[in-house]
Amino acid sequence: MNPPASNGTKARFTEIHPGVFRLALPLPGKKPGPVNVYLFLGQNKTLLDTGSSRTVHILETALENHGLKFQDLDRLVITHGHLDHYGAARKILSAPGSRCRLAAHPGDLFRIRTGLEAPVRHSFAFLRLMGVPPALSASLLSIFVVFKTMAQSVEPDWLLNEGDTLLLGDCRCRVIHTPGHTRGSVSFHLPDQSLLFSGDHILGHITPNALVMFERRQSLPKRSPQDEFYASIQKVEALAPRCVHPGHGGPMEDIFEVTDMYRRTFTDRQRKILALVQEGGMSVHDMARALFVQNLRGKRYPLELYLAVSEVYTHVQALETLGFIHTRIKGGRLLVKPSPQSANPEHLK
Ligand SMILES: [Zn+2]
Repeated sequence: MNPPASNGTKARFTEIHPGVFRLALPLPGKKPGPVNVYLFLGQNKTLLDTGSSRTVHILETALENHGLKFQDLDRLVITHGHLDHYGAARKILSAPGSRCRLAAHPGDLFRIRTGLEAPVRHSFAFLRLMGVPPALSASLLSIFVVFKTMAQSVEPDWLLNEGDTLLLGDCRCRVIHTPGHTRGSVSFHLPDQSLLFSGDHILGHITPNALVMFERRQSLPKRSPQDEFYASIQKVEALAPRCVHPGHGGPMEDIFEVTDMYRRTFTDRQRKILALVQEGGMSVHDMARALFVQNLRGKRYPLELYLAVSEVYTHVQALETLGFIHTRIKGGRLLVKPSPQSANPEHLK
């Protein structure tokens, strides 16, 4: 794969607020679209997210067009441990003479160090339980090869935790831990400007994935990313920011319009999953195919498959907590059945 071309004239940051700038860096595929990185100028010259390592030359050109070098940056802060958000960090930090320090949430340390949510064997064991055929699971390996071209592993210099305050440029900022999309996702709230930098926690043009969170020594993930995601939504709604700047796509001025859309979409998806469960005998993989089959075509199939299975499973977890369904493992597969008491999907609110 060739790195995307850097067009010197186009590689420019746009000022979105005095002293705060945005640059959209290209990503392969249509979704989720170019990844945003934000530059804060002032006391602490800070870059919020970096894009992937494949577009680091575009980032470098954009900074040069602004009269800056990597060495001029004081801080990198990372919204979460996905390759398109931290992938270029090591290249930036290793610029000769750099004094830049990297900060991320401890929940995503494994991701930032390895590029993976969990050891590969965990993902394979999970996919087997979900009923994914072994040949398809094996094709997931191709994703990991592609991923290696998008990020280099890196070690944060300091950790971000809920409630930490820091300066981004000259802007006072509070760290809001918003798990769901990943366990270590954070949003950055600027109370004086009433701005929120949300990473992939809040996106305007698509519903974010609440992805499976693996745990050591457990074959089935127990943490419920959907529930954590909803709790995180409430957290940022309570801040009522006048503008949200996401990890992909343009800014949003009405956070409630967006979060209402998420709730409607997720409820609709859970109704559909419940309807499928009532047909009986489907694996999570079967349900993912039935719900997302139009998306499970083309070159990115293995990744789409993983995301679809991951999403259906997290909804299954939420539906089980609500008492609509129950699950058990039989013959090395997760069986999903309706609960006899409340099997009507219309009961979902
Ligand atoms: Zn992400």
